[in-house]
Amino acid sequence: MGMAWSIIAYCKLFFLYSYHETGRNSTEFCMPRLSFIVTILAVILIHCIVAAKGRPAKEDRLNTAIYNAELPEKFAKKIDAAAARSPAFMADLRTCLRGKKYLRELVDRQHPLPSDYVPNDLVMLEEGIYQLIRPEPLRQVALESLNKMSAAARKDGVTLAVSSAYRSYEYQTKVYNRNVRELGQKLADMESAQPGASQHQTGLVVDFYPVNESFANTKAGQWLVANASRFGWSLSFPKGHEDATGYKWESWHYRYVGLDIARFIDNYFDGVQHYALRFLHEWEQWEASSPHGNQ
Ligand SMILES: [Zn+2]
Repeated sequence: MGMAWSIIAYCKLFFLYSYHETGRNSTEFCMPRLSFIVTILAVILIHCIVAAKGRPAKEDRLNTAIYNAELPEKFAKKIDAAAARSPAFMADLRTCLRGKKYLRELVDRQHPLPSDYVPNDLVMLEEGIYQLIRPEPLRQVALESLNKMSAAARKDGVTLAVSSAYRSYEYQTKVYNRNVRELGQKLADMESAQPGASQHQTGLVVDFYPVNESFANTKAGQWLVANASRFGWSLSFPKGHEDATGYKWESWHYRYVGLDIARFIDNYFDGVQHYALRFLHEWEQWEASSPHGNQ
C-alpha cells in the first residue's frame, strides 16, 4: 500500500515537472530532462530495496519461530521441509491462527495464566453419554465436542469417564501446595502444575478416569489415542517428551484444541501438542512485534 502511494506521488511529480517544462503551452509535449528521469528512477529503486529489506522473507519468520519455540532438530527439519515443499503448511498455519485465540493459548510454567483468568462460558458437566466422577465445569465448545466424542466411543463399545475438568487458580493453588507438602518441591512439579500454569484453568481440559498409569491400557485410553484428534482433542503430556513438557506422561490428560489445530499437531508435529502450541505462540509473537509481521 505504501509502495502504491509512493508510485502515485512519483507520477504526480513527473507530470508536474512535465507541465513546468512545457510552460503555459501544455498541449505541446515536452520531454523532461534525462537527468530528472534518472533521479526519479533511482529514488524508486532505493525505495524498493528499503521496502524489501524491511519485509523479512517467509524463511526468516519460519526460522525465528522454530528457534524461539526451541523445537528439537527432528521437528525443526520437518517444519522447514513442509514449508518449503508445499503451500499447504502455510495455509494450515493461517487456518490455526484464524481460530479462537484461547484454543492455541500456550499455558505452561513460562506462560502462566493470570490468577483472575476465568473462561466466560463454563458449563457444568452432567453425566449422560460419559460417566462423571465429580461434577466440574468445562467450556461450552469443549463440552459439545466431548459429547460427540463420547457418543462415538459408545458406538465402539467404549464408555469414557471424566474425572476432572476446569480448575480455578485457587483450586490449583491448593492442589499444588498439598503436593509440595506431601512430595517435596521437585516431585510436586512433575506431578502438578504451579498455580496459573495448569492447562485445567483454560476450561478446555479433561482428565479421564482413572487418573493413573493404568489408564493407558484401558479400552478408553486406547480408543482416545486412536480417535481423540478426530474430535479436536490432543494428549498434552505424551510419553518420551517429559523433558520438553516438564511433566511425566499423563495418558489421561487431554486438551481440546479444535479440529484445525488437532490436525496441525498430527500432520506436522507427530502428535506432540507442546511443540505445536509453542511454535504457534512464537510465530504470533514475532508477527506482533514486527512492523511488517502481518504482510
Ligand atoms: Zn490433568
